[in-house]
Amino acid sequence: MKPWQWILVSMIAALIVGAVINATCVVATEPDLVFNSLGEKLIGVFDYIGTLFMNLLKMVIVPLVFTSIVVGIAGLGKTDGFARLGGKTLLYYTLSSFVAIIIGLILVNTFKPGLENGQPNEAIRSQFEANQEKYAGMVEGKLVGQEGGMNAVTELFLRMVPQNVFEAFGANDKMLALIFVSLLTGVGLIFISSDGRGSVLKFFEGLNELTLLITNWVMWLAPVGVFALVAETSAQTGFDIVKLLAKYFFVVVAALLAHAFIVMPLVLRFVAGVSPRRHIYAMRNALLTAFSTASSSATLPVTMKSLHRNAGVSDRVTSFVLPLGATVNMDGTALYECVAVMFVAQVLGFEMALSTQFTVVMLALLTSIGVAGVPSASLVAITIIVYNVGIPNPEAVIGLILAVDRPLDMLRTAVNVFSDSCGAVVVATSEGEVVLSSDTVEA
Ligand code: ASP
Repeated sequence: MKPWQWILVSMIAALIVGAVINATCVVATEPDLVFNSLGEKLIGVFDYIGTLFMNLLKMVIVPLVFTSIVVGIAGLGKTDGFARLGGKTLLYYTLSSFVAIIIGLILVNTFKPGLENGQPNEAIRSQFEANQEKYAGMVEGKLVGQEGGMNAVTELFLRMVPQNVFEAFGANDKMLALIFVSLLTGVGLIFISSDGRGSVLKFFEGLNELTLLITNWVMWLAPVGVFALVAETSAQTGFDIVKLLAKYFFVVVAALLAHAFIVMPLVLRFVAGVSPRRHIYAMRNALLTAFSTASSSATLPVTMKSLHRNAGVSDRVTSFVLPLGATVNMDGTALYECVAVMFVAQVLGFEMALSTQFTVVMLALLTSIGVAGVPSASLVAITIIVYNVGIPNPEAVIGLILAVDRPLDMLRTAVNVFSDSCGAVVVATSEGEVVLSSDTVEA
């Protein structure tokens, strides 16, 4: 079997094992309950292995992003076309996220998952009312530092420029700062004397090769890591709660799938002139990793490798579009935020006028830019939107959707990563690159 087939098989096995644990053991479905049952112990083991795998992936992010961007830009030796590349990338990010949000909005208004016979769903609402306080407590910590979330765009620039260059390398949540420092270094190298440039560039080229090699090694462990991550989620997601939220769950899934399998393929086919089937195949490792880790940032090393090696997108475009996309372009997240807020309003019987829905769309677009590429990051953004449209008790409403958040997070993260990769292909082909030629797709 090929590596990606191993990953797929272990994912399916994990779903089954997790479901069996959930059905046969006492399992806490909410993070603040602690049980010492066999199920909990197994979940603890899965969590441990899953965290190790995630850490290994995250470990290569900083050197990989830095060296890829520097080599991608400085290697080119000229700054021409740089603004053009940036313009196209941002245009793609904005348009694709906007379309995703509209798909979500249409489906949530059509199927109204929060209503039952035209009335707010009582079963979901009473479950919420019984647990309000506990729910409010859960989001509290996560909202620290996000009060200014409304000013997502201005805050973005502030986060982009570090006070000290090493700050950008010091933490994975400083991705924007890292991109900024890498871009500056890459562009700066073009302007220094050829002697200096040559040796610095050689060093970074070597470092880049090394990080790619380590990413390869980490991916050998993917079947085990993926098994642990998926089994943990599957064991923790109780079937009863999924049943209660089934309609909501399926509306989100349908909207995400429509975006990934209708809109994106149309873009690939008609804007980039590339076969969607072959592109999905080229990106398979990245999509499976995104699905199991629920983190676009942790998946970034794999996405970069797949896009460059399998899909044949140049270093220059890959290293520019992907790291930025992993933090800024989140179609799945934007779509999810919109559906979640509308669902919450439906359950609580909160009237959403057309103008309020427009506010939701704009806020989903803005906040999805600021959301970090880590699991459950959109919950904070949803709270911000809920607060801004005036739905009461904003801290607690997250509780309404918390139980099914993780499986939906897995899917939306895969959509986020997929859209980033499609964006890179669109930008690359518009720059005259030939991608997905028969010799680029690995068997
Ligand atoms: N987990 C998502 C990501 O990493 C973000 C989110 O929607 O929570 O892309």
